[in-house]
Amino acid sequence: MCQLNMQNILSTNAIVSAKNNIIFGPINSRRFGMSLGIDLSPSTKQCNFDCLYCELAPTATVNKQTEVITVEEVINELKKHLHDKIDVITLTANGEPTLYPYLDELIDAINKIKGQTNTLILTNSATLSDEKVFHSLLKLDEVKLSLDAVSPDVFKKIDRPFHDIHIEDIVANVIEFSKVYKGKLFIEILFVHELNDTKEEIMKLNAVLPQVNAARIDLNTIDRPPAYPVMGISYKELHTIAQQFDKKLPIHIASRTHAEPNNVYHTKEEILNTLDKRPLTMDDINLLFDDASKHSLEELLQTEEVSIKKVGKLEFYIPTKNFKRKKKTH
Ligand code: SF4
Repeated sequence: MCQLNMQNILSTNAIVSAKNNIIFGPINSRRFGMSLGIDLSPSTKQCNFDCLYCELAPTATVNKQTEVITVEEVINELKKHLHDKIDVITLTANGEPTLYPYLDELIDAINKIKGQTNTLILTNSATLSDEKVFHSLLKLDEVKLSLDAVSPDVFKKIDRPFHDIHIEDIVANVIEFSKVYKGKLFIEILFVHELNDTKEEIMKLNAVLPQVNAARIDLNTIDRPPAYPVMGISYKELHTIAQQFDKKLPIHIASRTHAEPNNVYHTKEEILNTLDKRPLTMDDINLLFDDASKHSLEELLQTEEVSIKKVGKLEFYIPTKNFKRKKKTH
């Protein structure tokens, strides 16, 4: 899954391994920290989806890699670039990284040399149906699973999967994975205008997500030129969608590309109500609150009516009374 913006990284970061472009970055990812990327399909796009929003060119779907790099090549390149300022080694690809046939061996080899650095994979979730992949991902410190839709027709329209991939299986496997995984699990939903941003689809996602034991659910939209002529949605629309989800879900608005500041005044009571419905990050607050409201928030922090909760690399403002509230899962 290429949501670390592979093309952009490759074109804007000079620090790219000369050998096959296997290593890219490091980039400072707001959500995951200082990330060193590993591209498990450096020479061509190999993916079991052909998403409308993909930032890579449209390509026929495949269910296995035909151009395969060796574990040795990856590890040799990684050793050259890994240092103690890196927070996370991110497994990604020009395509779907879990199609890499030696993923299990590679994860074992990375775990031997990574030291304190975390490991992360960005995947479209489809290969969780493969027992070997499912168990390999359990060995990673962080996993980001994409889940753009739960309706078969919407899923097929947006993600255009390989013919034997079914969303019902993906949903069941995501829930199952979240029950046994001990690391940090992130879910990402990417919204495409007039496709999965309908009230009906959001309600369906909302019915499934409480069964997924996720540390954070990132709502995203199209930030870069997509493979097909589709449009993203605005920050305001993402914010409205965020409000429609169950308030116990750890929802986070990940995209700010189309964010237009809407700095309005909120009383302290309104601030507490807003944070009760949806914890916000400082980036959200800078877009939504005027200066007087930010001052009130500061006072609410001092009186300990509001606290800061860290999830992954992000800090959320949350009413203190909710801090210990247990999210009901399963
Ligand atoms: S087609 Fe979809 S899953 Fe595959 S690389 Fe592009 S965005 Fe990721």
